[in-house]
Amino acid sequence: ATPTSIMVGTGRAAEMGVLFRKGDALQLLQESTVVALDKTGTLTAGKPALTDMIVLPSRDVADVLRLVAAVEGKSEHPIAEAIVADALAKGLGLPEVDGFDSITGYGVSARVDGHAVLVGADRLMTREGVDLGALSAQGEALARKGKTPLYAAVDGQIAAVIAVADPIKPSTPAAIAAFHALGLKVAMITGDNQRTAQAIASELGIDHVIAEVLPEGKVAALEGLRVGDGKLTFVGDGINDAPALAAADVGIAIGTGTDVAIEAADVVLMSGDLVGVVNAFDISQRTMRNIR
Ligand code: ADP
Ligand code: MG
Repeated sequence: ATPTSIMVGTGRAAEMGVLFRKGDALQLLQESTVVALDKTGTLTAGKPALTDMIVLPSRDVADVLRLVAAVEGKSEHPIAEAIVADALAKGLGLPEVDGFDSITGYGVSARVDGHAVLVGADRLMTREGVDLGALSAQGEALARKGKTPLYAAVDGQIAAVIAVADPIKPSTPAAIAAFHALGLKVAMITGDNQRTAQAIASELGIDHVIAEVLPEGKVAALEGLRVGDGKLTFVGDGINDAPALAAADVGIAIGTGTDVAIEAADVVLMSGDLVGVVNAFDISQRTMRNIR
């Protein structure tokens, strides 16, 4: 492509809300063979809601939810917001907590009403030596439906499994179909549960899933997707995505993203969904092949 056609291409892209921050991104997009997508906030809305709560027969549901929501009230994770919103909607008052601790990618803990409360992924329970017992199978069943299972323990004993579900953005299925039509392999990278991620990926026809990735592991997960000389495009929205956006051959930050993500990206979308990513690929192919 000539410098003029690249100028025309980036201009046309800008009119469609696709901002190229680096000139060579148009070329590198056309050479991409893999598009890797962050799950939460990119494929999904990033606004989970509580869908299920199963407590052991020896426990009271409202009691456990009160304790759990009190701890989550100190967390800024979207999962925490979902749990707190559910407790408040049920009219529960949240007690004071102390000794709050958050372990990225695992979950949260604190003392509430004299009890030690833990809430998080199964790996948090494993790490703290809490046996999931019969709730393990229940959590796995919820995960197979594409929901994220979180476990709650009180004083070192498993008490409940809580599921949250994050709706897939309406535009996502068509975008995945368009990536496939462009000949791209589609991958998903997420910190979420392996079974949950697999269920969502199967529903969407995603080719490759890397789940239970800690924030610091995203770049390594991305590099593992490289195939030969093919270029790698990564799409994300969050603060956690900035290193992967920078490491990819083309990093695309979607519209609702944080400033940190936008700063690390080669391409920035005005819109909050994957339609802009499809447009970016489309424009790069047309420009590089000099098609009008
Ligand atoms: P992602 O952004 O892909 O969801 P995170 O690293 O933020 O990845 O979270 C990974 C997992 O850690 C979550 O799916 C959840 O199981 C657990 N987790 C993180 N924060 C919390 C929280 N506040 N309460 C309960 N679980 C949490
Ligand atoms: Mg995200």
